[in-house]
Amino acid sequence: MSKLHRYRSRRAILFAVPVVAVLCASGSVAAQSGPASAGPVDPQLIEDLVAANRILADQGVLDGWGHVSVRHPRDPNRYLLSRSRAPELISVDDIMEFDLDSNPVDAKGRSLYTERFIHGEIYKTRPDVMAIVHTHAPALIPFGISKVSLKPVYHRSAFVAAGVPVFEIRERAGMTDMLIRDQALGRALADALGNHPAALMRGHGAVIVGPSIQRVVGRSIFLPLNATLQMQAAALGGPVTYLDPEEAKKIEEREGYGLGRAWEAWKRKAMAKP
Ligand code: MN
Repeated sequence: MSKLHRYRSRRAILFAVPVVAVLCASGSVAAQSGPASAGPVDPQLIEDLVAANRILADQGVLDGWGHVSVRHPRDPNRYLLSRSRAPELISVDDIMEFDLDSNPVDAKGRSLYTERFIHGEIYKTRPDVMAIVHTHAPALIPFGISKVSLKPVYHRSAFVAAGVPVFEIRERAGMTDMLIRDQALGRALADALGNHPAALMRGHGAVIVGPSIQRVVGRSIFLPLNATLQMQAAALGGPVTYLDPEEAKKIEEREGYGLGRAWEAWKRKAMAKP
């Protein structure tokens, strides 16, 4: 049993006691269905999550579908994600809190993303991951349906050197409609992702993870760009020179300091739209 799972079990016990006490005292079974909230979040983080959705829509990474989440800063067993809405329209009021089984804390009758299990199951298996993007970016599709692997072609996408595996949903679930509709499929995708920064989903899109909202937004912009550039280089014919793993490592160490300059510009442009 992992540290995270032990922690979750303890929390489940702690929360179960007051719920039972309330039910007995009131004699009512009109119980609260959602898990407990981990409490309020810094408005700046919510604003960044809204900006992430709008930036990725503005940059053509998210279409009418796709989503961005962030782990709750005060509880590793909660995450924040919009209600089911097109990313470019999302505002602060759309952001909801979920447990890692992807149950909403307080749905308030709002509709939820069908594929929210992508987020919950990856947060369970990757304690290092603080933010996740699910995208259908067209440039990524050829690398999920062919035998050609994504490789790092330029400095902005050095993280690709860590490997981008392909998730084949048929191996775990046979014939489906391709969507990650439940915890089991989310777990299968998390297994395919392993310790990598991203995984392609064959015939569907990709999931991209990172240690912060800013980093995952950067990776989500530069992964499809890397795919386009790699295809263009291959089309020229002849051998292609990729980043050396040592170069990629040095760049990734530097990226840890953040994407401040680009983030400010992306955010201002995306948030200026009505
Ligand atoms: Mn999808």
